[in-house]
Amino acid sequence: MKFIVLTLFPEMFPGPLKDSVLGKALEDGLWEIETLQIRDFATDKHATVDDRVFGGGSGMLMKPNVMEKAIEAAKARSQSENPRIIYFSPRGQVFNQKKADELSKEKDIILLCGRYEGIDERVIEHYGIEEISLGDFVLSGGEIPALAVIDACVRHIYGVLGNHEALKEESFGSGNYAGLLEYPHYTRPAEWKGLTVPEVLLSGNHAQIDAWRLEQAERVTRERRKDLWDRYSEQKAKQPPKKRPKK
Ligand code: SAH
Repeated sequence: MKFIVLTLFPEMFPGPLKDSVLGKALEDGLWEIETLQIRDFATDKHATVDDRVFGGGSGMLMKPNVMEKAIEAAKARSQSENPRIIYFSPRGQVFNQKKADELSKEKDIILLCGRYEGIDERVIEHYGIEEISLGDFVLSGGEIPALAVIDACVRHIYGVLGNHEALKEESFGSGNYAGLLEYPHYTRPAEWKGLTVPEVLLSGNHAQIDAWRLEQAERVTRERRKDLWDRYSEQKAKQPPKKRPKK
């Protein structure tokens, strides 16, 4: 999978993604990243990429004619006939694991990182650009959202994680704990600062451990995320009762 990133700060990539599991996968060619400097597509001698907004108000906007050239160049680098173009924006659909999985199936995607007040609305309209938000807060640029989205997508590419199945069992996964946040984890030492590990995890009884984990995943989700819990409960009510492991 290839990410084509349009940015005013190409040196920010691959940044933190060149380390650890993702970095290894990058070296192994499981994914690729290419950055295009938006400023290279400016048309005047000062390499201007932004201008004042019509209607007044503070802030500058990225110019549509410069963005057009940058987007056309990115499309030319893509292997897809009609590559997906994503623009990071607080107005977009809030990113989640389902979206990460969906995007990871593309051959390549173009990621557009805004700066200033963002980009001219006509660019979004003209290219049918999809807007994605990292959450309900404002960052100073789309580069951190791009890094976050790439990280989440690359984890879904087969061969990147040592154990691909692990994805399913994580928070927001599709396995036994689908729709739930993850249960608590513990490692050695079994006693630390007078705190012990739940007995059942030391029992070696896998049926009991699974039952405990499901119970805990449900508790954590119920306590922390009413939205997820309501959806999970609804889903569960619709399904025939699963065979629960005996305690
Ligand atoms: N004027 C905009 C904010 C601009 S912030 C507004 O009020 O909605 C500058 C750039 O940072 C944006 O163009 C976008 O690319 C990026 N950005 C900021 N917050 C973001 C978020 N929550 N999710 C995704 N991108 C964001």
